[in-house]
This record gives sequence, C-alpha cells and structure tokens, in this order.
Amino acid sequence: MSARRIDGKAVAAALRERIAYAVVEFEHRLGRPPGLATVLVGEDPASAVYVRMKGKATAEAGMASFAHRLADTTSEAELLGLVAELNADDRVDGILVQLPLPKPIDANRVIGALDPAKDVDGFHPLNVGRLAAGADALVPCTPLGCLYLLKQELGSLAGLDAVVIGRSNIVGKPMAALLVAESATVTIAHSKSRDLPAIVRRADVIVAAVGRPEMVRGDWLKSGATVIDVGINRVPTSDGKGRLVGDVAFDEAAEVAGAITPVPGGVGPMTIAMLLRNALVAAHRRAGFEDPEGF
Ligand code: NAP
Repeated sequence: MSARRIDGKAVAAALRERIAYAVVEFEHRLGRPPGLATVLVGEDPASAVYVRMKGKATAEAGMASFAHRLADTTSEAELLGLVAELNADDRVDGILVQLPLPKPIDANRVIGALDPAKDVDGFHPLNVGRLAAGADALVPCTPLGCLYLLKQELGSLAGLDAVVIGRSNIVGKPMAALLVAESATVTIAHSKSRDLPAIVRRADVIVAAVGRPEMVRGDWLKSGATVIDVGINRVPTSDGKGRLVGDVAFDEAAEVAGAITPVPGGVGPMTIAMLLRNALVAAHRRAGFEDPEGF
C-alpha cells in the first residue's frame, strides 16, 4: 500500500472533543446546552442502532438528548404533531427524524414540516435550496464529513477535478454542491454514465457513494488521486458473519491512490461527528450567536 490511509475515526474523535468544549462554552453563555431530538418510528433494527448511536454521541458531547420512539402504527398526523411540538420547544435546537419511515407516512411531508433552522440532517427543501444557491445552509452530515476529510487532506480544492459517483439527495448531490462551492471542477456520475472508468481516471478527487461492493477498481484511478469511499456494503464470508466493504476495492486502490478512506473507519464516524457539529451550529444560530469558530 502506498496511499495514506485517511483515519476518519481519529479525525471524528478529535472533532467531537472540540465540539464538547464548544458545548460547555455555549451552555455558559446561554444557561442551557444545545439540544438534539431524535425521532424513531417503528422497529427497523438498523434504524434503532443508528438512533441509539446518535443519542449516545449527543450525550457524550454534553448536549441535551431528547429521544422519541413511536410505534410503527403511528399515523402521519401524530408524527406531524410531534414535529410541531419539537419545533416549538426552545430546548430543542436540532431535530432528526430517522429515515426510512414506515410506508403510509410521506417522508417528504414530514421533512417539509421541520423548522429549517432545526433541520440538522439538511434535508428540508429550504436547506437544499440554500446549499444549491451557495448560501448558509444546514448541510447533510455524510457529504459534510467527506468535505471535512478532503480539506484536511488537501487544503484547497480549487481547480481540482472531482468525480462524485452517485446522485442521491442524501450523499451525491449535496457532495457535488459542496465541491462546486470549493471551486473544484465537478462531474456527477451515476448508473447511466458511459465509460465510468474513463471518467474516474480524470479525477484528482473521487467520492464513491454507490452501494456496490468494491465497484471502483485500482486501475480506474489516476496515480496520486484522493479517494473518499462512502459505501457501506456487507459481503458474505465463509464463517457466515459477513464483512463490511466500501464501493472501492481498497487494496488495489491503495496501490495507486495518494490517500484513501478505509471502510469501516473512514466516512462512517464522520457522519455522526457532523450531526453534532450541525446541532452546535443550529444552536448558535438560533441563539443569535456567531457560528462557532473552526467547524
Ligand atoms: P442510493 O440512494 O442508492 O444512490 C446510489 C447512487 O449510485 C445512485 O445515484 C445510482 O445511480 C448510483 N449507481 C448505482 N449503480 C451504479 C453503477 N453501476 N455505476 C455508477 N453509479 C451507480 O445510495 P446512497 O444513499 O447515496 O448511499 C450510497 C452508499 O453510501 C451506500 O452504500 C450507503 O450504505 C452508503 N452510505 C454511507 C453513509 C455513511 O455514513 N458512511 C451514509 C449514507 C450512505 P442512479 O441514480 O442512476 O440510480
């Protein structure tokens, strides 16, 4: 392996420590800590694990954590009622409604009902529009975490050729908008793109957010490229336990790339750190304070 391994776990831990200090300062100024509410509807085991991890991280950062767990029989009207309560609750600076929501509930309507100032996932149309317009927005946590790693690794991204593989609203599109805002030259590739290896070979920066195990091969990469692997894919192993791999064939890519994130331990830990960061920023803005410095 010649590439530097970008240690998202360590970067996220350092960031969370700084957030915890900023939380103490905020509480000192306002007399209460920033508050983050999580809403989980139904019993999806993966969602339950994510929400538990987010609640734990919130408490560890010294923020107030408000966990709401609703039965999968909850109606859209009941959920909208809870959102309205959380919007009106002054102790709550951030609201995270865990997706996916059970079938009959329209997730877009629920997201649209969030106070955009408390939308720490950055999914509300107002935040999506602000990001597209280059204005101050709350930005989805995963792409924000990718950008943080890229800037730590490369400093300025101005003029670099960046390829984002994937165009989801959660990762690909906001990632591309963030890279454009950093003055990179951005290509968004997706399942209909022709000759993906040739597109990737041009790139100084690759962000892979596809959901296909080890799709990006080592010989697709330009020598020295920086590779951010968002994918989390479980593949079978002979012991039956399975293992996690990214969208990039790590061992091959690490022979060619200049720097690369591992899976696990790359982008994943950054997502939670950025959720805390967004809650901290939302709390500052709601209190009428300047944005906290260095985040
Ligand atoms: P998604 O909504 O399924 O989007 C996948 C994207 O990949 C789509 O735009 C799709 O193109 C594109 N794609 C599929 N097959 C392709 C191919 N053969 N060639 C080129 N593009 C292809 O997924 P997502 O929510 O963005 O997530 C992507 C991956 O990131 C998943 O593995 C997910 O588990 C992971 N993830 C990780 C984190 C984290 O915290 N680390 C957070 C979120 C997601 P079309 O639009 O044409 O269909």
